[in-house]
Amino acid sequence: MMRTTRVLAVLTLAALAAAGCGKEGSPPTKGPKPEDLPKYQVAQGFQLTDSGTWNKAKRRGHLVVGAKEDQPYLGEKDPATGTYSGFDIEIAKMMSASLGFDPKSIEFKTIASANRETALQNGQIDYYVGTYTINDNRKKLVGFGGPYYMAGQGLLVNKDNDDIHGPGDLNGKKVCSAAGSTPYQRIQADYPKAILVAYDTYSICVDNLLTYQVDAVTTDDTILMGYAAKVPDELKLVGKPFSKEPYGIGVPKGDNTLRFALDDAIEAHEKNGDWKKAYDVTLGLSGVPAPTPPAIDRYPAS
Ligand code: GLU
Repeated sequence: MMRTTRVLAVLTLAALAAAGCGKEGSPPTKGPKPEDLPKYQVAQGFQLTDSGTWNKAKRRGHLVVGAKEDQPYLGEKDPATGTYSGFDIEIAKMMSASLGFDPKSIEFKTIASANRETALQNGQIDYYVGTYTINDNRKKLVGFGGPYYMAGQGLLVNKDNDDIHGPGDLNGKKVCSAAGSTPYQRIQADYPKAILVAYDTYSICVDNLLTYQVDAVTTDDTILMGYAAKVPDELKLVGKPFSKEPYGIGVPKGDNTLRFALDDAIEAHEKNGDWKKAYDVTLGLSGVPAPTPPAIDRYPAS
């Protein structure tokens, strides 16, 4: 019985990913409804000619934005339509509107955690919005607008797991995270007795958790809540967040003009209510009411 449920859960998660969720027969998922999503006012005649990135996008006619495609409520791609949705995607659209580009014209590209810096460095994308923690190491390689949200590292385990309640219980346990992520680095540095397993994406980690190949998945609470919400009978978050993960918008290093324009844009969309509206119909569906967004970190040009 147990085994059957488990196999079904795994199939369910895969089916949800494949179907873009909410298919008949799958558990109730509360994905964002397209008609509920806010519309953002596109800035008319906007110019940012000191930004190399903006000029390139202007010549191209649209923005190319890096994102995640398998993080419920944050960045999810419907494989049937190719449409991306979630809170990060809404932030990307707000930024596009402020930069004078119709959000509908954004070309999204899925980029895994480990490949974000390279993608920005070699011009594959104009900016990146995908649970991307701002930190000093990364600031040596890329620039960051924001933060636009404050997450914290958490732990996801199977519902029937009774021995993991926090990161202190990970000794000798298999813990899965994404390569190149801050949660992975934190376990490696602060909990060296945990057995770390790395994949490109957290959804692969979750599949491994559901089949008991690993004991826990660790990353931001926001991401874990999304997976737990998809199979609430199988998975649970444990303990309190044990880090601060300020989410920024990654830009090519040195394009300070673009970075400051994004800082202004985030502030404007927080003020005019877009940020909260977007949160409520995406990340808010995982059950946490909209928090006050963190203060913008307008660090000096670098
Ligand atoms: N926010 C963390 C990071 O930037 C974890 C989530 C992710 O990998 O995107 O590394």
